[in-house]
Amino acid sequence: MLAPPAEISVPTPNIEQRINRFRDEIRAAALRANRDPEEVRVLAVSKQKSVADIRGLLSQGFREFGESYVVEALPKLKSLASAGCTWHYVGVVQSNKTKKIAQHFDWVQSIDRVHIGKRLAEARKEFSNVPLNVCIQVNIDDEPTKAGVAVHEVAELVQQLQEFSQLQIRGLMAIPNPNAPQNATRLSFRRMRAVFDRLQSQTSPAWDTLSMGMSADYTIAIEEGTTMVRIGTALMGPRT
Ligand SMILES: *Cc1c(COP(=O)(O)O)cnc(C)c1O
Repeated sequence: MLAPPAEISVPTPNIEQRINRFRDEIRAAALRANRDPEEVRVLAVSKQKSVADIRGLLSQGFREFGESYVVEALPKLKSLASAGCTWHYVGVVQSNKTKKIAQHFDWVQSIDRVHIGKRLAEARKEFSNVPLNVCIQVNIDDEPTKAGVAVHEVAELVQQLQEFSQLQIRGLMAIPNPNAPQNATRLSFRRMRAVFDRLQSQTSPAWDTLSMGMSADYTIAIEEGTTMVRIGTALMGPRT
């Protein structure tokens, strides 16, 4: 007998429990910081997860999904074309992938060079009248091997990217040093929030997204003012 197609599998109670626990944690962290839990958007990072896994989250009300690898993502985006997802590209943007990214994604959170922004803007023009939403990735802990602009270069890059009408600049994204102790991570998030607030006056009303906080640290990020957490493991289970 043939196994049923993976696409119609439904989330197991296990997944529902994980989601409920996750939503409770978000609410508790927001309340600790006197924030409205609704202010925190959740991006489900679905890299290495199947279309069935993504449908499981869709059925629980999640709509925004993040992917890190173009070759892996495109078949999934295609399978889910009519599912009403908003797709965020959160991986390193390679020059030779800008066309595909600009064509298929709604957001790019990982711009750290004007050259990449320019290529994305030019490609977007070919495919859509709707601007591509973008965030600038900041290398908040000055890690030598990590993507992202230095804090002192963010304002200039925002200004340069504002030239491109095909890009709607939404805010900033950061991944703190994963090996730093919790208190250092908290200070990194706090610095990010300060940079985000400082740039508010220089930018348009669309400047509304501070993307920081992953499975290991999202409650700290919420306490420190994130507006979007990017969650893989805590929502979708471990990646194999
Ligand atoms: C994989 C990834 C995430 C999610 O990581 P988890 O620790 O599984 O929550 C978030 N942001 C980016 C940029 C990622 O690559």
